[in-house]
Amino acid sequence: MVTTSWGELKQTLRASVNEHNYTNWIAPLELLSLREGVATMAAPSGYVGTYVQRHFEDDILRALTAIDPAVRRIDFTVTPRAAREEAPTEASPAAAAPHAEVGADTLTPGVTRSAPRTPSSEALSMQDRMLQPAPLDPHYTFDSFVVGKPNELAHAAARRVAQGGEVEFNPLFLYGGVGLGKTHLMHAIAHELKASQPHLNVVYLSAEQFMYRFVQALRDKRMMDFKSLFRTVDVLMVDDVQFIAGKDSTQEEFFHTFNALVDHNKQIIISGDCAPNEIKNLPPRISSRLASGLVVDLHPTDYELRLGILQSKVASFRLKHPELEVADGVLEFLAHRISTNVRVLEGALTRLFAFASLVGREITLELTQDCLSDVLRASERKITIEEIQRRVAEHYNIRLSDMIGPKRVRSFARPRQIAMYLCKKLTSRSLPEIGRRFGGRDHTTVMHGVKRIEELMQQDAQIADDLELLRRALEA
Ligand code: ADP
Ligand code: MG
Repeated sequence: MVTTSWGELKQTLRASVNEHNYTNWIAPLELLSLREGVATMAAPSGYVGTYVQRHFEDDILRALTAIDPAVRRIDFTVTPRAAREEAPTEASPAAAAPHAEVGADTLTPGVTRSAPRTPSSEALSMQDRMLQPAPLDPHYTFDSFVVGKPNELAHAAARRVAQGGEVEFNPLFLYGGVGLGKTHLMHAIAHELKASQPHLNVVYLSAEQFMYRFVQALRDKRMMDFKSLFRTVDVLMVDDVQFIAGKDSTQEEFFHTFNALVDHNKQIIISGDCAPNEIKNLPPRISSRLASGLVVDLHPTDYELRLGILQSKVASFRLKHPELEVADGVLEFLAHRISTNVRVLEGALTRLFAFASLVGREITLELTQDCLSDVLRASERKITIEEIQRRVAEHYNIRLSDMIGPKRVRSFARPRQIAMYLCKKLTSRSLPEIGRRFGGRDHTTVMHGVKRIEELMQQDAQIADDLELLRRALEA
């Protein structure tokens, strides 16, 4: 019970701390016990424990109250590395598998990839200082990645790279806003390559980790090790490259590594939060190099993709918890209302699951609204009257001035009524206010318009379709 819930709570935490924090600090934690208000957690090192205590204790405690409302303190212990590997965590056995050894290798020559890992205390403390590199999330696979219009190109490119073989585009540069699946795709590539070509040295790390190691290497005077290690990589993936922009010596070193690998025909995959030439503080000679392969972006999600993702998450959750019931309309509601990013969407769903299993009830629309009121409020996008007027005018190909103006011919009056209807349904504006914004019309005119459209929706399939289309476009 405790372990399953902790796995889920972690996902909730993931939504509240940022991705770097999550991967570096929260993901490696294990919940050992929760007794008499004290949660005992295992951290991979004392340093991680102390850091987490200092920075995330409150967040974690808050999350843990879902398991035990009386929890008030966290004690951290250090799990010996060997023990951790023998005892897979709840996530999956793969979570404890040796993805992490690139970091161990980096600055600890002598610990080879395949050697039994009983590192000396010196090696351990070195790792402690260097941080564990981000392990690959076992859930981030191609199988669990839902493909839709906004991400199909990125997905296809990632698939192609994951096949290995002759490199057609190098580097592959993936970019897009927060939570759109960049990290997921990169991990999926790494999983696939590791499975199909285990001999390849596939290195995945965030740009932040790249910098961290580089700085450590400088400090420990082990630049030669650093360079030679990175030069032996077959596939290098660097996530969130924007992080090193403007960090002069790190970005220089990254550039050298990059060039050396490309020269040897090694595949490179990079992600960023915007297109290479838009990354601030990145010298043009570097950004143009980054753009020299294939650059693909992940577009913001649309309604269909969000719904697809929700359905797939529910399906996989129900494999383990067949008792979970989700009422009709709940997923559609969430896909409509939470359009910020997939991480928020997932966090919302995780919270719903946790809540539903605690109270042992079906997830209804009402429960959803109760349980997620803060998330829903935060992602409420304020649709404005102007936006509606503009969209509707565009849709019917009339001028905005005609929509608002006094002309009463049907070709203007009908779109005007449709816009009024949408203003009433999608904004919190009052009828008189809407009337004012439609060229100073009376509130009874608006009321009449809204009523007329409600009637027409029942009779005229074309109008019903138009409305659905407009509503989606406005809510996207
Ligand atoms: P980014 O790196 O672009 O900020 P992530 O890859 O971390 O985003 O994605 C955020 C969360 O959303 C992850 O948990 C990921 O699994 C999930 N996610 C994003 N896109 C998809 C998708 N198309 N299908 C399934 N899950 C997705
Ligand atoms: Mg990411």
